Amino acid sequence: MRNLIIVLGDQLDRESSAFDGFDTARDLVWMAEVEEESRHVPSHMARTVMFLSAMRHFARHVESRGWRCDYVRLDGKGNTQTLADELRRAVKRHRPERLVMTQPGDWRVQEDLLRAAGDLGLDLEIREDRHFYCSLPWFRRYAAGRKQLRLEYFYREMRRLHGVLLEDGVPLGGRWNFDAENRETFGKNGPGLLVPPPVAFPPDEIVRETIALVKRRLPKNPGRTERFDFPVTAGQAEVALTDFIENRLADFGRYQDAMWTAEPYLYHSRLSAAMNLKLLSPRRVVEAAEAAYRAGRAPLAAVEGFIRQVIGWREFVRGIYWTEMPAYAGGNALAADTPLPWFYWTGETPMRCLRETITQTLEYGYAHHIQRLMVTGLYALLLGVRPREIHEWFLAVYVDAVEWVELPNVIGMSQFADGGRMASKPYAASGKYIQRMSDYCTGCPFDPAQTAGPQACPFTTLYWEFLMRNEPALASAPRMELQLRNAARLPASQRQAILDRAREIRSGPLAG
Ligand code: FAD
Ligand code: SF4
Repeated sequence: MRNLIIVLGDQLDRESSAFDGFDTARDLVWMAEVEEESRHVPSHMARTVMFLSAMRHFARHVESRGWRCDYVRLDGKGNTQTLADELRRAVKRHRPERLVMTQPGDWRVQEDLLRAAGDLGLDLEIREDRHFYCSLPWFRRYAAGRKQLRLEYFYREMRRLHGVLLEDGVPLGGRWNFDAENRETFGKNGPGLLVPPPVAFPPDEIVRETIALVKRRLPKNPGRTERFDFPVTAGQAEVALTDFIENRLADFGRYQDAMWTAEPYLYHSRLSAAMNLKLLSPRRVVEAAEAAYRAGRAPLAAVEGFIRQVIGWREFVRGIYWTEMPAYAGGNALAADTPLPWFYWTGETPMRCLRETITQTLEYGYAHHIQRLMVTGLYALLLGVRPREIHEWFLAVYVDAVEWVELPNVIGMSQFADGGRMASKPYAASGKYIQRMSDYCTGCPFDPAQTAGPQACPFTTLYWEFLMRNEPALASAPRMELQLRNAARLPASQRQAILDRAREIRSGPLAG
């Protein structure tokens, strides 16, 4: 046999570079389900279901092209549990001349496979991942020599290079960024019955099979599968994209940052898992959004806001991941040393915003960006949770979690643990932000307006304490000046009361 083509669970791209020059007579596709990928962090059951279901469907697609596919099932005979060991077994079975694959998404997986190939005395040809707009060599050249990387400039460059939302080289509407017109709240009345729910994909035979398998093999892993209805094939992902463009894109920007009880999706696309597993191309997503604007079906502010997430943030964090790893994973610029509170795994806390977000996460394997950044991420930042522990939590609990996108979002954006390589300042805010953007504070035993005392919102107390504690580390961050000045202006008695209450929070169940 000539080439063993390795396809990982997040490489389910029908147009993958790994298939270039595929020779039906002499090449073989190899895919393996391995327990290690659900155990190295205790993966949410729905996340494992997402991966296994999409992989099994993809293997069927490969066979339908008339290609041979050696598919190793988790419940198959002699499954060794690690990718490297399974690869060794596959090489023994097929005796290939060469191993070929598209670049893995995870640094860890790439290292393991390179090591295994070396041990086997085989060449591992790693090809560029064409799924992305931005190649890694291009990003490295772009990043070289820049002390700080900022999304806004990278995003403009991407739009220029790929001709997105441009007319004669000029941004449509005369501006690159329409953020000022986005980010409304639902006010007191909430979204009502207006939000069209995303199209659901009830579990088919393959999904039902993997749900049963995950419950049997990984019964102690977190999360539930009862609500699993994500797209798991390229065809379903296309239906989900059309549904989003037609029904929710127009209000995406407006309510991008809003949160509401029992409304997990609001106007978000929930396309991240389909894109990260490569069932759906970002080009297809961006083109569909731009076409909706040009056809007058969605306003420019919504479309620009959405496209910025895909062609901007998504490509940007991948570039950061691959230029900064492996050191990036160890970042801890604020010397945070608090263990992750246990309630992150159960949702059992009186703080309503955290209870709602974590419970929803465990139910659906989904939370939208502001829930991740400004509720679960923010509390960990303010409490000073060890970056590695909160990183592992985020990598475990979302169906879309893959390290190249999760890690920079956690270490860089949410925890400021990279010291500002990615974001110009920490996303630090008090409970008042959550009160403004959601209905969570209604019915919560705490008050976001109080800074100290037993009724004070823990976010508010810890926000002020965070500023006091990290003043030396943050003094040079250009956009922190005002926040630090406000903290310095607090009367001494109030500062002391905040520090006392913060100490109580840290030693009690709100941090446990
Ligand atoms: P929408 O709100 O509809 O956005 C559209 C698309 O834009 C998303 O599908 C996603 O592909 C992309 N996008 C939006 N924001 C970002 C971002 N900050 N970085 C990269 N891409 C972005 N995203 C993941 O895909 N996997 C993760 O593991 C992940 N972990 C995160 C952890 C933290 C702490 C934070 C703050 C963000 C994280 N994100 C992650 C980014 C973002 O929250 C999710 O992509 C988004 O919530 C997915 O839901 P959606 O598809 O409905 O997104
Ligand atoms: Fe969260 Fe504080 Fe609001 Fe309670 S009062 S929901 S803890 S922000």
